[in-house]
Amino acid sequence: MELLKKTATEQRKLLLNKEISAVELTEETYKQIEKLDEKIGAYNSLTKEQALETAKKVDEKIAKGEELPLMAGIPLALKDNMNMIGSKTTASSKILENFVSPYDATVTKKLKENLIPIIGKANLDEFAMGSSNENSAFKIVRNPHNLNKVPGGSSGGSAASVAAYEATVSLGSDTGGSIRLPASFCGINGFKPTYGRVSRYGLIAFASSLDQIGPFGRSVEDIANLYMTIAGWDEKDSTSLKIEVDDVTKTLKDDIKGLKIGVIKELLAEGVNEDVRKSIEVAIETYKKLGATIKEVSLPLLKYSIGIYYIVATAEASSNLARFDGVKYGYRTKDAQNLLEMYTKTRAEGFGDEVKRRIMLGTYALSSGYYDAYYKKAQQLRRLVKNDFDTVFADVDILISPTCPTTAFDIGSRNEDPLAMYLTDIATISANLIGAPALSTPCGYDSEKMPIGLQIIGKNLDEATILRAAYNLEQAIK
Ligand code: GLN
Repeated sequence: MELLKKTATEQRKLLLNKEISAVELTEETYKQIEKLDEKIGAYNSLTKEQALETAKKVDEKIAKGEELPLMAGIPLALKDNMNMIGSKTTASSKILENFVSPYDATVTKKLKENLIPIIGKANLDEFAMGSSNENSAFKIVRNPHNLNKVPGGSSGGSAASVAAYEATVSLGSDTGGSIRLPASFCGINGFKPTYGRVSRYGLIAFASSLDQIGPFGRSVEDIANLYMTIAGWDEKDSTSLKIEVDDVTKTLKDDIKGLKIGVIKELLAEGVNEDVRKSIEVAIETYKKLGATIKEVSLPLLKYSIGIYYIVATAEASSNLARFDGVKYGYRTKDAQNLLEMYTKTRAEGFGDEVKRRIMLGTYALSSGYYDAYYKKAQQLRRLVKNDFDTVFADVDILISPTCPTTAFDIGSRNEDPLAMYLTDIATISANLIGAPALSTPCGYDSEKMPIGLQIIGKNLDEATILRAAYNLEQAIK
């Protein structure tokens, strides 16, 4: 167990010193899953044979004294909306329940090339739509810190697996906060890189102009290393950036003297839980002690970000999900009399309520009579939000806020009210609207011992600075 609690960096040392083998580490991880996952629900399926084969290759390399990629041998959970040849890739939807990937996502290919054992496919909200992981068609995920609380969503399985020591690191996807929110609720680090930094090829699309894959880990160094493993241009994703990736590991441990930090006023206003506020204030004081300068900044249009997001994201989702029609992939209804009935019954039976709600909203926003009033307006406002951020970023290097105004809430408590659920993402969504890199790092606990996360947002492509800022805080408060 002590072994599983270590960070990837620490586990790597043990591997290189031959104190443990990669096969042992992988097997220990499966033992923990066997013991715990019935309660947690982090995994949809396990890919044990493949993981052990990879671990064996790592051990052979170590035995031969060959150089080892940065994350080789480190057990990883892959969100179940990323393709991996021969494994079920379900997006936690009934419509894909028996879908087996015929190809690898680019991130999966990179994980394999880097000899990272993929332990299994992590549970999520159906098609990554949700903030609590209660929208999975198969089972909910429970928060390892308190089994009555949600782990956050939509990458709830990816976050819970790391927090419950059922994986050392994991990958999630973030469309409006789905990496940062569960990282915050589960007390770990989660990082959404700049839009286009990591290839989306092979990620089941939710909202293509917002989706981004990123790492979870117990330490900032772990997420920096995993980020370096997956980042980079990909000819298979036309929105991936053909710009060299800065080696963030080189500057990670530099100090932050003189760093200019903006505190987002609107995100510390009313409605923020008192324990959350206190922890953020402690983080601010810590940053001052570390030599950063702090300035309060205002983003007046931030209040529109949820409204903009739920038009843009649902519009894109309604279009992306049109491909699930019973013809090409996955589930097909048993008793249709004609083609149209086959489409409608397949979709009615295959999609869950939240997915249907989004398809209806998105179709409405894109329909010819309403396009200008909703979709076009939302895109225009999205630009204005970006302008707001640009103005603020002229004066500061990074922005900080709580990742969420509250800590993890009780399972079932926000299910009846979709709007209350949507508001959970007030702090995270704008980074997706503007494409900026953003992370959540642990910064304390509330009175119920539930973790609190600090969000750091950076300028586009400046992943290095937010990781360095997170690393410095982590070292100062641990
Ligand atoms: N919670 C948001 C939603 O439900 C964001 C989800 C995500 O980032 N995938 O759409």
